[in-house]
Amino acid sequence: MGEAKKKRKKKPVDTADEIIVKRCPECFVTLPLDAKECFSCHSKIGNVDKHGKARKSVNWVSYIICILSWTVFFVYIKWAFKI
Ligand SMILES: [Zn+2]
Repeated sequence: MGEAKKKRKKKPVDTADEIIVKRCPECFVTLPLDAKECFSCHSKIGNVDKHGKARKSVNWVSYIICILSWTVFFVYIKWAFKI
């Protein structure tokens, strides 16, 4: 008879105390672990690290918008002054 054994994986405890909250890297407000955005300063936050602090998530949209706006600016300067 095949006995269905439930394999229970023990969660490895890599930190001394259980992390139940994380902190915003910008304003250090306490946030729930699943928070994606700080409710206080509205900065995007990533996963929590082992110190209970949220990582800063890279805001690629802002980078792209910044680069694009600079490109448009230079193109405009070139066009406006006929360099
Ligand atoms: Zn914040």
